[in-house]
Amino acid sequence: MPDIDAIFQTALRALTAACETTARVQAGFDAREALTKHDRSPVTIADYASQVILSKHLWDVFPDYGMISEENADELRKPENSAQLSSVCEQVRVHLPDISEAEICELLTRGGRGDHGLDWTLDPIDGTKGFMRGDQYAVALALLCDGKVIAGFMGCPRYSVMGGLTPSIFYAAQGEGAWHRILDTPDPDQEIKVDDTAVLTQARIIRGVEAAHANLGIVDVMKARLGMQAEDVRMDGQGKYAAVATGDATAYLRVPQLDSTRKECVWDHAAGVIIVEEAGGKVTDVEGSPLDFTVGDTLAENRGIIATNGAIHEEVLGVVSAIEAEAV
Ligand SMILES: [Mg+2]
Repeated sequence: MPDIDAIFQTALRALTAACETTARVQAGFDAREALTKHDRSPVTIADYASQVILSKHLWDVFPDYGMISEENADELRKPENSAQLSSVCEQVRVHLPDISEAEICELLTRGGRGDHGLDWTLDPIDGTKGFMRGDQYAVALALLCDGKVIAGFMGCPRYSVMGGLTPSIFYAAQGEGAWHRILDTPDPDQEIKVDDTAVLTQARIIRGVEAAHANLGIVDVMKARLGMQAEDVRMDGQGKYAAVATGDATAYLRVPQLDSTRKECVWDHAAGVIIVEEAGGKVTDVEGSPLDFTVGDTLAENRGIIATNGAIHEEVLGVVSAIEAEAV
């Protein structure tokens, strides 16, 4: 088991620097600088700069740890993208003035699982489409030990649930609870807990924005069927887990279409899962099985995600299952 104090200190310092960078790029965002990856999804200067800054901080202190991260240098190294590579270097050097272009590319290239069972998962911007719209996104970092999530860190510089902006970092480690730091304030970090809503009819549900990622309509069917009154919330990126962990929402549903073959990536969920669990909540797939982070870059053995305050978990699983059974 690694030294949890060293993990907290290093990860929080790295995440704070990455969030400053993504916030600065978002404030002056130029869509012409976005690239399109082979899977047609967008990637921005900020995704790359965030990954470089986090990787550099983490590997300086923990050189043997693996790194399972979303981005790599493939697109940036193409000659036609040299302007974007220059922009990435410029943004990284605001924080790390002496770093070379070669080291930046090397940090983006080096990755994969480590030799000692300790691996970071990193999504340098989770919710890139939200980021590009000027909306919410998360910088998400987690630590796996033999495939089990033992710590999670999530930067949400645009965190907002019911109005009001609270730039935040949420973090948790196994047995240490879950914590909320408000960025740019001297306030001490606060421990967070899920809400105590005991029945689904009173729950506030949070779901994604992008219809390609999940069957967003299932929440509408559920609300209509149960006569649920609470206004639901939509958010880009992994901050949805933070909303459940703080009690800003009672449950997060990510239910795939029945015919979907899309699998969830580990870096999209690892940090959020432990933050909800350490705040007293529960996370499973839509069948009620625990999430399995041991099978590569995706949650290949799981279908969808249900994260709740725990109290209503079985009820949510039952209602989702019933609605899906009728749809077949
Ligand atoms: Mg991403």
